[in-house]
Amino acid sequence: MSKNLTNRSEDYSKWYNELVVKADLAENSAVRGCMVIKPYGYAIWEKMQAELDRMFKETGHQNAYFPLFVPKSLFEAEEKNAEGFAKECAVVTHYRLQNDPDNEGKLRVDPEAKLEEELVVRPTSEAIIWNTYKGWIQSYRDLPILVNQWANVVRWEMRTRLFLRTAEFLWQEGHTAHATKAEAWEETKLINNVYANFAENFMAIPVIQGLKTESERFAGAEETMCIEALMQDGKALQAGTSHFLGQNFAKAFDVKFTNKEGKQDYVWATSWGVSTRLVGALIMTHSDDKGLVLPPSLAPNQVVIVPIYRNDEQLEKITHVANTIMSDLRGKGVSVKFDNRTTFRPGAKFAQHELQGVPLRIAIGPKDLENGTVELARRDTLTKEIVSLDTLTDTVEQLMTEIQETLFKKALDFRDAHITKVDTFDEFKTVLENKAGFILAHWDGTSETENKIKELTKATIRCIPIDNTVEEGKCVYSGNPSKQRVLFAKAY
Ligand code: AMP
Repeated sequence: MSKNLTNRSEDYSKWYNELVVKADLAENSAVRGCMVIKPYGYAIWEKMQAELDRMFKETGHQNAYFPLFVPKSLFEAEEKNAEGFAKECAVVTHYRLQNDPDNEGKLRVDPEAKLEEELVVRPTSEAIIWNTYKGWIQSYRDLPILVNQWANVVRWEMRTRLFLRTAEFLWQEGHTAHATKAEAWEETKLINNVYANFAENFMAIPVIQGLKTESERFAGAEETMCIEALMQDGKALQAGTSHFLGQNFAKAFDVKFTNKEGKQDYVWATSWGVSTRLVGALIMTHSDDKGLVLPPSLAPNQVVIVPIYRNDEQLEKITHVANTIMSDLRGKGVSVKFDNRTTFRPGAKFAQHELQGVPLRIAIGPKDLENGTVELARRDTLTKEIVSLDTLTDTVEQLMTEIQETLFKKALDFRDAHITKVDTFDEFKTVLENKAGFILAHWDGTSETENKIKELTKATIRCIPIDNTVEEGKCVYSGNPSKQRVLFAKAY
C-alpha cells in the first residue's frame, strides 16, 4: 500500500488532495481545472444523486434535460445574471477543424466555420430554460412547473480544487415556475429544507440554513437561501443554494400567463442546485489521518469481508461462511463485498478499506471457523470486537444506524464548539486567527462594512441564519446599530 497520508494538523490542504487521489476518488485531468471522477468517487456521487432524486420526486418534481449551449443573445437577456457569470464563460465560436496548411499534421479552426451566433457553454441554465418556458406557459393552468435537470456546467474558475471548485462540475439544477410570489417563496424554502435534511440525515453533515447578503447572492436572484457547513480546518463551505428569482427571468424572456382573474402577469421563478462539491464536503467533514470515513448511507460498500487463510481448503470454508453472511446482510438491505482477491494480502486489503472509508470490516480466519465467530472492525472509531455468527446480522444492522448517528454527533459537536459570539472587532480577529470556525457578530447591514471586513480578515458573511432572533446590538466593525447577528467565516 502507498505511504501514509500527510496529517491534517500538519497541512490540511495537502491531506485533502492526497486523500482524494489515494482513496481513488478523483484525479486531475489533461484539462486545466477539470477532474476525472474515478469509479469509487463516482459511486459516492451516484448515492447522493439517488437520494436527492428521490427527495425531489417526493416533493413533486420531474427531471428533464436542456442543451449544453446557450446562444449569446439569450444568455445576455437577464442582465444581472449575464453580468455575474460573464467572467467565467467558455464560449464556442467555431464548429469545425481542418488540416493546417502551414503546419503539417496539425489541425486548426476552420475560419470559414465561424458560428453566426456565439454559444455560451452553460454556467447555469436559467436563460435557455426560461426561453423554453415561454412556449410552455400561457395560463395559470400551466403552472406550477417543477423541473430538475442533472447536468454538467462550466465556470472558468481560476483557483480550482478537486471536487470543491472545478471548472466543469456535475450538479442538479431545479428550475420552477409559479403563479404567485408566495408560492415561489415556499418552493425556495422547501428546497433549502430538502438540502438541509439531505446533508444532515444522509451525509451526517450539520448545516446552518440562512439567507445570503446582497453581495453573496446568485446573480439575477432577489434572494438566495443556502446551507453552510463547517469543515475540520475551521473553514466554511457553501453546500447548497436555493434562489428566489422573483419575476426577473420572466420579464427578461417575456414569460406571461393569464391568472385566475383573467389578467396577464409575469411568472414567478426559483432555481436551486447542489454539485459534486458535496463529495468534498463529505471528505472534509468526516475523514481522518488514516483516510476516508464514510457514513453508511453513502458508502458504496457498507461492509467488506476479508478472508484470512493459509490454504485453499481454508479459503473454501471461509467462502462458504462469507456467502451465508452476505446473503443475510443483503436480505437486510446492507451492501457487502467479499474481498477474495488473491493478488493482495489481508494487511494490504485492510489498509485499502481503511483508506477508502468502508464503515465495517469483517475478517474471518481459521480460528473464527472453529469458534463460529468473526472479527468486526469499525472504521469511524477504529475499534474491533469478536462477534458470534449467530448475532452478526443484527449487530451489523444496528451498527449501520449507530455509525451514521455517531458521525453526525461528532460533526455537530465540532461545529457547535466552533461557533463563537463576539462583540468587538479585536475579538473577531483573534477568534479567526486562533480557532477559526463560525463567528456570530452584529453587522450594520451595509455592503461597505461587509467588504471592509472581508478585505481586513478574509472572512465573509456566510449567511443571515433563518432561526435568528432579534437582538439589539452594535456592528462589530462600524459600531452602527444592528438588529441581529450574522454568521461570518473564512470559506472555501
Ligand atoms: P450557484 O448556482 O452559484 O448557486 O451554485 C450552485 C451550487 O453549486 C452551490 O452549492 C455551489 O456551492 C456549487 N458550486 C458553485 N461553483 C462550483 C464549482 N466551481 N465547483 C463545484 N461546485 C460549485
